[in-house]
Amino acid sequence: PKKGFCKANSTFYSKRSPLPLPADTSLDVTTFMSSQPHRGTTAFIDASTGHRISFSDFWRSVDRVADCLHHDIGIRRGDVVLILSPNSISIPVVSLAVMSLGAVITTANPLNTAGEISRQIADSKPKLAFATPELAPKLAASADISVVLTEDDEEEIVGSTRGVRVVGVLSEMMEKEQSGQRVRDRVNQDDTAMLLYSSGTTGRSKGVDSSQGNLIAHIARYISEPLAPPNQTFLCTVPMFHTYGLLIYAMATVALGSTVVILRKFGLHDMLAAIEKYRVRTLVLAPPVLVAMINGSDLIKAKYDLTSLKTVRSGGAPLSKEVTESFLEKYPTVDVFQAYALTESNSAGASMDTVEESQRYGAVGKLSSGVEARIVDPDTGRMLSENETGELWLKSPAIAKGYFRNEEATNEAFSSQGWLKTGDLCYIDDDGFLFIVDRLKELIKYKAYQVPPAELEALLLTHHEIKDVAVIPFPDKVVGEFPMACVVRKPGSFITEKTIMEFVAKQVAPYKKIRKVKFMSSIPKNPSGNILRKDLIKLVIPSNFKL
Ligand code: AMP
Repeated sequence: PKKGFCKANSTFYSKRSPLPLPADTSLDVTTFMSSQPHRGTTAFIDASTGHRISFSDFWRSVDRVADCLHHDIGIRRGDVVLILSPNSISIPVVSLAVMSLGAVITTANPLNTAGEISRQIADSKPKLAFATPELAPKLAASADISVVLTEDDEEEIVGSTRGVRVVGVLSEMMEKEQSGQRVRDRVNQDDTAMLLYSSGTTGRSKGVDSSQGNLIAHIARYISEPLAPPNQTFLCTVPMFHTYGLLIYAMATVALGSTVVILRKFGLHDMLAAIEKYRVRTLVLAPPVLVAMINGSDLIKAKYDLTSLKTVRSGGAPLSKEVTESFLEKYPTVDVFQAYALTESNSAGASMDTVEESQRYGAVGKLSSGVEARIVDPDTGRMLSENETGELWLKSPAIAKGYFRNEEATNEAFSSQGWLKTGDLCYIDDDGFLFIVDRLKELIKYKAYQVPPAELEALLLTHHEIKDVAVIPFPDKVVGEFPMACVVRKPGSFITEKTIMEFVAKQVAPYKKIRKVKFMSSIPKNPSGNILRKDLIKLVIPSNFKL
């Protein structure tokens, strides 16, 4: 057929090879991953220390940590375990150990404040947390939680310290010989395995409830569409607390047997030095890093040998045709593959698989393995055809079950027939390429980090001089978007832009800061009191505003 997709009953079907799902429905995702034929020898390299861990040592560590969690700490199927750490080898080790027990992994952004983290803890109720010694004090407000330190501390403390109850040290768990008893709970495909936080289409951050089966489908997708040829080296620069980093670098590359160089903290020059030193082939990143590489290209090319770099995969936020073209002009030997997915979809979405596909600049790729899509008119609910723009709905075995213990939010975002309403305005062209036109949902993405406007609005409304407020995305060339507050002052108030920005900055993680304020006499709302965000954006951001 001439068209680049299969279509029936107004549904677009992926033309990639089907998902190779295992027949055994009692498999947990960790076992499914470890049973894949491994091609590589080195699993991870820590760029800051040069420390390497082989696949055999990695899997042995996963097993030992799982045993300690089961026997020594009493973690059982369904228990939630939080990881609070910058990018580190400990994240894949702990995640896979926890999930092998039928227990549940959850993550928090290490940049978040203690208050933001304790709200998340109150929602997911973890029994145990893994944290670095520096980040552990952020857990002090959550009295019920026990902590395992992921890095050794000079004081080697196990006991009560820095306001948290420390019950172990990860390096000791990784070295502890197994007891031999391997009685573990039986795991079901429907068991929750991961709770990553996302605000979805509206409101505050919620735990996205992904099952063992969802994550097996996620791995199957990368078996069907490998991220790179075998035996290649990746560099992980994206955060592992987020779906993007966790699903690729704690899961997909591990199952595929690739080597991953981990940078603890992102820095452009550290990243470039690591590409040169470890002969990195593939970089997975968000658009702001591409922009930084374009802006510094002359210096970068003079200073670093980037000849090993073949592919850059960009996702997490929009990457325009113009940015792609300028990148390719500066780095003509590198291909830019775009991908699109959501926390709620566990990597099911669209991607580019071949150099030919990557040349469709501005598109995010074709539907990934096992994905079905609909384009739905957001006003009438009518299902649309190719080249028509509407809300993208997705269906795939990888798509999450819903929001954790939140039926209302689940029913809003997930249809009874299993469709995820993405909140993205899209179209699919005749060749089957997906284009993201706009975001219908409230979400703001600062350097691809999620900033839920509802959270900032609730915070701003606690200020005694603010009568009403709406937070909207303001476009920016470097960071993508930043949060802007449209504020209605209380009568008699002369509160300034600076005071408002400081009031928020004191209480939120740096990426959520309000960076612009506009004072207004009222906020446009519909009769039921919901903010008319698109109208507000049109009103506040001039249509001729060019990045
Ligand atoms: P998250 O759950 O944080 O991964 O955010 C998912 C959202 O990020 C999507 O619903 C999109 O709005 C946006 N997004 C992700 N990838 C892309 C992309 N390649 N192009 C445009 N928007 C994207």
